[in-house]
Amino acid sequence: MSDTLPLTVHDLHKSYGSNEVLRGISMQASRGDVISIIGASGSGKSTFLRCLNVLETYQKGEVRFFGERIEISKRGKPAGRQIDRIRSRMGMVFQSFNLWSHLTILQNVVLGQVSVLGRGKAEAREKAEALLERVGIYERRDYYPIQLSGGQQQRAAIARALAMDPDVLLFDEPTSALDPELVGEVLRVMRSLAEERRTMIIVTHEMRFAREVSTKAMYFHRGLVEEEGPPAQVFDAPNSERCRLFVRQNFDH
Ligand code: ADP
Ligand code: MG
Repeated sequence: MSDTLPLTVHDLHKSYGSNEVLRGISMQASRGDVISIIGASGSGKSTFLRCLNVLETYQKGEVRFFGERIEISKRGKPAGRQIDRIRSRMGMVFQSFNLWSHLTILQNVVLGQVSVLGRGKAEAREKAEALLERVGIYERRDYYPIQLSGGQQQRAAIARALAMDPDVLLFDEPTSALDPELVGEVLRVMRSLAEERRTMIIVTHEMRFAREVSTKAMYFHRGLVEEEGPPAQVFDAPNSERCRLFVRQNFDH
């Protein structure tokens, strides 16, 4: 049965030089799982996400995407064609939005559909418009990213990821760069995706949100999973005292 899981990670180790950043991480994501990853800055959360879609390579361990093992070549480089194929099925949303600044919002959402998936322009445009409507920025479709608020840019980035019909969505602190009053509009979109039972891995400091939408939560400490389980355990009754303190400190901000 495990072949059909969208994502499984077994004993992942990753070092930068002598700095061992991931020290044996395992994870299983079933269809419709929303897995939140919390933990202090520097604990390896971003590195872990980047290993999942092979923006980073790793020294040991394996990642499987719907049962298919992602190959890292002996030279430590990802094997090109497989990576392109798998990456196109994993949407990633970054803290810093990463929209293409020289393209309008609409063009941002159209481009990958045409260049990577080979969709026709009319179809891609129609889909982009529907997604921009969904995330509430259809009226801004002909603006450039810089002309939008951070919350609007992040919603555009989510629309761009969705346009590729990904099987898994990865979020790396999608609201951390936003002014507080703009966080809610992005979380609302993410919540609606969770309610559709999309498979999502979310690195976040938004404890309340994570507790409400997650099916599982993981607390990272220095490259290891120190606590994991249902959100009621991790956020309300963790075994790890360190996790308990981390959650409490981050709940109030
Ligand atoms: P988090 O996202 O939990 O804050 P990161 O995954 O960004 O943590 O970083 C974990 C550790 O890896 C940190 O010690 C960081 O300095 C180190 N690190 C991250 N990226 C690089 C890199 N490209 N080169 C060297 N060290 C890195
Ligand atoms: Mg990070």
